[in-house]
Amino acid sequence: MDYIELHKDYKANSLFGRYITLQDIEPLLQKFSTEVIGKSVLGRPIYKYNIGTGSTKVFMWSQMHGNESTTTKALFDFFNLLHSQEDIAVKLLQQFTFCFLPMVNPDGATLYTRENANKVDLNRDSIDLSQPESQLLRKTFEEFQPDFCYNLHDQRTIFGAGTTGNVATVSFLAPSFNESREVNEVRLKAMNVIVAMNEELQKHIPNQVARFDDGFNLNCIGDMFTYLKVPTILFEAGHFQEDYYREYSRKMIFIALVSGLKHIYENDVVDNKFAEYLSIPQNNVVFYDFLYKNIKINYDGKEIITNFAAQYKEELIDGKIQLNAYIAEIGALKGKLGHFQYNAHKMMYSDDYEGFPKINQKADFCLGKNIKFVNGLKK
Ligand SMILES: [Zn+2]
Repeated sequence: MDYIELHKDYKANSLFGRYITLQDIEPLLQKFSTEVIGKSVLGRPIYKYNIGTGSTKVFMWSQMHGNESTTTKALFDFFNLLHSQEDIAVKLLQQFTFCFLPMVNPDGATLYTRENANKVDLNRDSIDLSQPESQLLRKTFEEFQPDFCYNLHDQRTIFGAGTTGNVATVSFLAPSFNESREVNEVRLKAMNVIVAMNEELQKHIPNQVARFDDGFNLNCIGDMFTYLKVPTILFEAGHFQEDYYREYSRKMIFIALVSGLKHIYENDVVDNKFAEYLSIPQNNVVFYDFLYKNIKINYDGKEIITNFAAQYKEELIDGKIQLNAYIAEIGALKGKLGHFQYNAHKMMYSDDYEGFPKINQKADFCLGKNIKFVNGLKK
């Protein structure tokens, strides 16, 4: 199957970039028979969309972290596919019944925050269920009684795929259900699907798929649902080379969704892909957005050669997301990589502040006599 073509044909083109709010998705949701299941803290509707007649029930939710919109974009691409006449769409709707919550945290989406309007991380609220959004998610889970859960997120640009030196464009996890991180039938089912998705993704992003840390925390939704005996898969859409709008990783998530579901209906034999799952490299914090090496700085009257790193902060300004680069770390930065790297060959650093790089200072500076960097990038 040509997944790239398939995605091109069904991409929801009106959704673009990082800032995806309820206002963006509501016009699209009107095309489908959705239901409002309740309200967020600030009274915004939370939508549910069910489709399909199959015996295998899959529950997917996105944007429980408000500023993690890539998987929401991929879901709407997937909805368009499901509404097409493609053979794969017909097959998927025969095999599965889907339940989607495309935006669990609409307040956080508008505010562009991870947390909801009460500043609670909804992915740390699975025991207390203190928030209306967490309660609605749990209620939907209990009513629908899924066979699989897909927990859809974005991850930061800092993660590499193991020691490959590549960024982790997509990461997965089959969450633990206990402290000792045992593997049971439930986890194994999730792992098998992850292995199938990884196999397809390797054709598109070789060595850029990773596996998230499986430390147990019952407050996390995926751990809770695995504990409640439903195979759950954490999806983390990540960075791809120069793709700060996450349009490429959106395509990869779409491919993962379709190929993983195809695997589920084509393979009813219980296989054991544990070894293959473990061979997916682990998420490894190695990247900065910017890394500058061999910089000469004058610090306290002494000249030293050092390295420093800068990182984008995504800032919501006048209804738009701006990527603003700030200095994040100074020092040897051994083993660290930059999505943008610059070797200054001992050129002298200067800036309009105190003359040496300081953490949280804007990444606006000069190297040597006339090489100017603005917002992290060479002018
Ligand atoms: Zn998240």
